[in-house]
Amino acid sequence: MFPAPMSDTNLMPIPGHVDPVPVPRDVTPRADGRVDLIGLPRPRIAELFAEAGLDAKAARLRAKQVFHWLYHRGVTDFEAMTDIAKTMRPWLAERFVIGRPDVVEAQVSTDGTRKWLLRTADGHDFEMVFIPDADRGTLCVSSQVGCTLNCRFCHTGTMRLVRNLTAGEVVGQVMLARDSLGEWPKGSMAGLDTDEDSGSYTSDGRLLTNIVMMGMGEPLYNFDNVRDALKLIMDGDGLALSKRRITLSTSGVVPMMERCGEEIGVNLAVSLHAVTKDVRDEIVPINKKYGIEELLQACADYPGASNARRITFEYVMLKDRNDSDADARELVRLIKHYKLPAKVNLIPFNPWPGAPYECSTPERIRRFAEIVFEAGISAPVRTPRGRDILAACGQLKTAAEKRSRAELDRLYAEKEAALG
Ligand code: SAH
Ligand code: SF4
Repeated sequence: MFPAPMSDTNLMPIPGHVDPVPVPRDVTPRADGRVDLIGLPRPRIAELFAEAGLDAKAARLRAKQVFHWLYHRGVTDFEAMTDIAKTMRPWLAERFVIGRPDVVEAQVSTDGTRKWLLRTADGHDFEMVFIPDADRGTLCVSSQVGCTLNCRFCHTGTMRLVRNLTAGEVVGQVMLARDSLGEWPKGSMAGLDTDEDSGSYTSDGRLLTNIVMMGMGEPLYNFDNVRDALKLIMDGDGLALSKRRITLSTSGVVPMMERCGEEIGVNLAVSLHAVTKDVRDEIVPINKKYGIEELLQACADYPGASNARRITFEYVMLKDRNDSDADARELVRLIKHYKLPAKVNLIPFNPWPGAPYECSTPERIRRFAEIVFEAGISAPVRTPRGRDILAACGQLKTAAEKRSRAELDRLYAEKEAALG
């Protein structure tokens, strides 16, 4: 039913608790032989132009112009690139495309949250969520189709199929959101640096102001693509979003955390969710591989963390599992013990069909927050958004990839055995 898979999409083995091996990949043309430019760094675009026959200087110049049109203007058609010679435009269109993920469905929640079901060129579905607030708008971006990690409270972890998204598919989500929100600068690019139009290119008044890598998937299991995409998003000549407005959330892939800080440099959020080995082993199974102490030490060592740029600890509130006063006190103790510049985000558990947990009561959440707050650590309770369209944290899952309860139980048993 789907077009032949692109050869650059690495499907991961499931089940089995192996770290996916990063696969270096080069550009893979589409079925019609054309290459998608979205996701490629500017020097790579220049190389491709040179390989297609332009001399080195012309290739660099064209790459600079095209890059600008792609990321500053959001054009999807070479014909719109008015400072490129008319005869050159069909030459580009014959060899290259400007891709976007396909939109399969777009939904709007009663609270204004929007969710898009997207599809890759080789037919895999994944989701993206936009959460508007009074003073900001946050785009929740996916890094994988599904997730190999199977946290017990997370809907995405129950998906059958997992594949890394390419850098183009990651940055493509942000571009698609800008398309939908109508947030590309208008007007012609001629004289971009001097005309008044260029002055309007700021984040002021924008709907989309922040990005969180908190959609489907574990971003640090798809490090290279996520890094390359975020670099395009942060590039002043690209999407030009400040690294201070970008947060990457990891379930605790300890060996990649230092590189995340050094090579990407965005804010870090860590899905801690429990303070004892028993409970964290159960709900965040990667804990069996990288335990709480190791994880918190990696947080203490995270490059760039400071009181001005604190690490966020995400803590999902599960009734009678991780929500006692003793848990709250232990959380405080750990944060102080490792001297972490931290804030805690308390996330009321978002239910999904067949989930094995319930959300803590509001009184319990309030008391837990109080204990953390009284110890001098900021501990806001995250308001669930978009629950009615299953767009809230941990509810993302594409219908095509459903697993049965029996399959899930078998999977958990296999993981247990594999992790010893
Ligand atoms: N894989 C990454 C990022 C995606 S999940 C990670 O785990 O950090 C984004 C956040 O939502 C994580 O903190 C995750 O633990 C949390 N989450 C998952 N399922 C949830 C649920 N059902 N209710 C509330 N939060 C959930
Ligand atoms: Fe994967 Fe994060 Fe969900 Fe765990 S919480 S299964 S790491 S997406």
